[in-house]
Amino acid sequence: MDKKKYTDYIDEKKDTFIDVSDRIWEYAELSLKEFKSCELYCKVLKEEGFEVESPICGIETAFKASYGSGRPVIGILGEYDALTGLSQVAEGTERKELVEGGCGHGCGHNMLGAGSMAAAFAVKKYLEDKGEGSGTVIFFGCPGEEGGASKAFMARDGVWKDLDCAITWHPGDCNQVTSGTCNSCIQTEYAFKGIASHAAGAPEYGRSALDAVELMNIGVQFLREHMPSEARIHYAITDAGGESPNVVQPHAQVLYMVRSVLAKDALELQKRVDDIAEGAAKMTGTVLKKKFIDGCSNTVTNKVLESLLYKNFEEVGVPEYTEKEKEYAAKLVDSYEIKKTRLPGAATDESEDIKKYVKEKSQNGTKPLNDFLIPYYYSSKMRAGSTDVGDVSWLTPTAQINVACFAAGSPGHSWQNVSCGHSSIGHKGLICAGKVMASTAIDLYEDPDIIKAAREEFEEKTEDGYYCPVPEGAVPVLSGEKIEF
Ligand SMILES: [Zn+2]
Repeated sequence: MDKKKYTDYIDEKKDTFIDVSDRIWEYAELSLKEFKSCELYCKVLKEEGFEVESPICGIETAFKASYGSGRPVIGILGEYDALTGLSQVAEGTERKELVEGGCGHGCGHNMLGAGSMAAAFAVKKYLEDKGEGSGTVIFFGCPGEEGGASKAFMARDGVWKDLDCAITWHPGDCNQVTSGTCNSCIQTEYAFKGIASHAAGAPEYGRSALDAVELMNIGVQFLREHMPSEARIHYAITDAGGESPNVVQPHAQVLYMVRSVLAKDALELQKRVDDIAEGAAKMTGTVLKKKFIDGCSNTVTNKVLESLLYKNFEEVGVPEYTEKEKEYAAKLVDSYEIKKTRLPGAATDESEDIKKYVKEKSQNGTKPLNDFLIPYYYSSKMRAGSTDVGDVSWLTPTAQINVACFAAGSPGHSWQNVSCGHSSIGHKGLICAGKVMASTAIDLYEDPDIIKAAREEFEEKTEDGYYCPVPEGAVPVLSGEKIEF
């Protein structure tokens, strides 16, 4: 099978993908508010001949773009949300806001979506050549990755379970196939309603909502000793009542984040946090209201798909850089406030061989751009952090890659990432990602045995069943909004 024809197609259409990436970068829209970004994707995909549906699952900025007929059905996932406070001049080597107080693509989701779309374009071209009934490709526009976890809502609504496989990627500072798992995570906001009163003159008439938040936090603090060691509970007080100490605070709100490896365990732990919140309300004579914010599951690895991605990554090759790009990246590296001492890649702390290889290739971590592919290393290790790709991976075999789009060691969610995400380094990364994913998908259409093997592995790893962290009836919302009583 000559896959080059299709990776060449990505090169032919390169300007389209880069333009979309740069425009999404400029829009820099926050989670669940990616209206312009979603509109742009839908327009470009329609023009290419995809059948586009938006919104889906009641999420306004989500879409699906399909092409082809019959099985296998392969899903390619894209994201496009930005982060607050990270507006930054493109290709800048020092911190300079583009829009005062504006948002920015600090996680590179502008490239994530565009690179995935490039893959979908190439796969469509392949399916066109193969003719009717040879398979289907669906490019999913998944909003709100940073907040909202739309993929988990889409999981609850049955979007992923009918796919044969799903493929995605994430911009990073090195080239690797992502393996290993992460945390599941549930966010819930708790609001307490009390009664305001003069704190000195008539304290007996007051019921403090702030006391309730404090007691809840203390209760959870004691819970921490009696929960599994890999579980985590974090919180942020999103409303501390008022600013006058001489008033009994009549309202207060706290946002909790419960993490455990398995969603099943996070859901159990979540119930204990709920009980503590109820206890705090009772102790203070306040009224409690809680709101589910979002939740996502850990990722299920798939060695079959990961190996296939690696094979294609080797074939496609990694981006090559000009001297100018290397100089620019070196300046970004110089701008880090804290220099990373870790070598690039997730597997360097798991395998001595990979560590040795990466050490040499990265010149002991001093190269400003990681212009090499890290050997594939299958891992079942848990890495702290969460992604809603997890919920996809519990419902269909899923795998992902990282492609270097940022300078080496670039901090996550940083202005340096925003700067680089609108540069030729980022552009090369997204084109490379598109090619690797497209080639992998084509292999899957060509050889049903690979899908069968991926499916067998998937069935074995998910035999306990999927525990959806998103309750029935919940709709995607952002945290921090005031809960009305
Ligand atoms: Zn991200």
